[in-house]
Amino acid sequence: MQNEKCVVCGKAGEKHHIIFKCEGGLDFPLNYIYLCAEHHRGKKSPHRNRRINLMYKLEFQTKLKNILAKDYYSMDEIIKTLSLNPSQGRSICKKFKIYKEGYKREDIIKRLMGGKFYYDFMLDEFYDDSWNISNDFIDDLDLNLYGNCEF
Ligand SMILES: [Zn+2]
Ligand SMILES: [Zn+2]
Repeated sequence: MQNEKCVVCGKAGEKHHIIFKCEGGLDFPLNYIYLCAEHHRGKKSPHRNRRINLMYKLEFQTKLKNILAKDYYSMDEIIKTLSLNPSQGRSICKKFKIYKEGYKREDIIKRLMGGKFYYDFMLDEFYDDSWNISNDFIDDLDLNLYGNCEF
């Protein structure tokens, strides 16, 4: 694992959960990226910067939409397509509504995103400076927000 490289700069990386575990993120390979200490926990990292965090999440959501190209899936297909371990697969499927065609794509993606969808416009929202607060203040806010979260 220590050989994994930071996706930003190529230095030795640590495992980052794109959807944090405290947000309901699952422990499965698609939800990981590797980031060096600076790009993982520094000022311009998903744990300190809301916009960067959102960009990784949007990227992940797009990837899931591409991978899950069909409208409905069986449990076995979900497990296989997403490389989940079978008990994870069973546990998430338990919460889904079952249609005669199978489990619905949107339900699966939403679950993997931690129970919510993310949108591009959320990136713009970040730049709404009508509150007139400094970026440093936002950084501090984020730090508090995610302070209890496992990196
Ligand atoms: Zn890096
Ligand atoms: Zn992390």
